Amino acid sequence: MTSFGTAPPRDISGASYAMDVPAEWPWSRILRRGQTLRIIDSEGQQAVDALLYCVDDPAERYSAQDTLRVQGSAYIDLGTRLVSNRGRVMATITADSCGRHDTSAGCCSCESNAVRFGEATKYQHACRENFILELSKYGLGKRDIVANLKFFMNVPIDPEGRFTVADGISAPGNHVDITAEVDVIFVISNCPQINNPCNDFNPTPIRVVVWDAPAV
Ligand SMILES: [Zn+2]
Repeated sequence: MTSFGTAPPRDISGASYAMDVPAEWPWSRILRRGQTLRIIDSEGQQAVDALLYCVDDPAERYSAQDTLRVQGSAYIDLGTRLVSNRGRVMATITADSCGRHDTSAGCCSCESNAVRFGEATKYQHACRENFILELSKYGLGKRDIVANLKFFMNVPIDPEGRFTVADGISAPGNHVDITAEVDVIFVISNCPQINNPCNDFNPTPIRVVVWDAPAV
């Protein structure tokens, strides 16, 4: 098993791409095998929903169930392999200064907001709408949205399997690095939720940075 913790920190000046994603916005990019995406929680306590699809055949996509089963862990953190619905490793978490990411609670939607927080919230922008907008660029749609990753979201799971969305623990500048093991479409919704503490009731921008694969 590779020891990710001993890798030298990545140098921002060597990045091939960087962008600030405004609060509540979607973002996506094709990550080639070996490229590393860093997601920076610029102001802290911001949940970042994410989905991955194989470029060659988007029917192969991130599987929360297989990822948790293979890991034998309830959370996503350093060294976690993100596994597809066909059992392949799509990407690996190669750095993590936050230490807590979720893949059990799913993403927010107009429908779930209405059920959980009342009918008046049904018209608020939600992650599901962000995913639909961004996936449309690749010919994908509603039926392609599956159980997703949620970086920087704190969802403690008790021994009975019950979970709660708790206050975020990520500090300003915390980051997580994801290195692609195959070519993937990496889709993000910078979560617009304002009805629970996942974004400290105040959605904020994130920064995304990409490094190319190191020369061998
Ligand atoms: Zn959301």
